[in-house]
Amino acid sequence: MKKITLSLSMLALILSIGMNEASAQKIKINTKGIGAAEKGLKAATFSDADAAKLAGEAVAWMDANNPVAGPNDPYTKRLNKIFGKHKNEGGLALNYKVYKVKDINAFACADGSVRVFSSLMDIMSDEELLGIIGHEIGHVANKDSRDAVRSAYKREALMDAASSQSGVVNTLTESQLGKFANALLDSKYNRKQESEADDYSYTFMKSHNYKVTALASAFQKFADMEKASGDNRTKTEKMMSSHPESAVRAAKILEKAKKDGLAAL
Ligand SMILES: [Zn+2]
Repeated sequence: MKKITLSLSMLALILSIGMNEASAQKIKINTKGIGAAEKGLKAATFSDADAAKLAGEAVAWMDANNPVAGPNDPYTKRLNKIFGKHKNEGGLALNYKVYKVKDINAFACADGSVRVFSSLMDIMSDEELLGIIGHEIGHVANKDSRDAVRSAYKREALMDAASSQSGVVNTLTESQLGKFANALLDSKYNRKQESEADDYSYTFMKSHNYKVTALASAFQKFADMEKASGDNRTKTEKMMSSHPESAVRAAKILEKAKKDGLAAL
């Protein structure tokens, strides 16, 4: 039974499992010097279609600037096997790729793009990966991703006076795209948004008869990494530790699973 219904087929979102600070290695560029034009920026009309268009352009830029696993790469084959059947989940038109990078991350965007990092795949089981991807899709379904695109666009001051009047977004230059893509990856969701994306993933897992406890164990893995990292933490681990709720989130999911009779008491 499919309980997940999405009112919008194309949403802009960068979803983060709470570790989006650990953005892909190659896409960090110097963003100093921007923001001067931000002053006086008007809150513009910004449609879902605008958000999807911009997100699609940002993802195309990220794909061009990161090592993408090819069609015969074992990572791609594994993701095909795990996620290929969910390309139309909830009425969304999803596409996916693997970035072969060291950072542990995954994100999804308004145009339906899902990007999973190989280092995340290395530490997660198939169902744990589905739980994380389900969380990311949740941000799209809940329109968090659209709001993130709008926010990043404004933050990077890409919206000029004319476009803020007309509601038509600018076509971005190559350098603007780089800044915008990074701003998107730096998007942060609040606690309520994260909690609701967790709920979405729980329902996604349950409706497809996956183990909902895999979502909890994925978060528990993050929590264990945070705890074990100590003083010799890598940059990525330090970033992850700024997100202290992994254990709490795991416990909450497990509690829900017990109530539903889907986990041992
Ligand atoms: Zn999230």
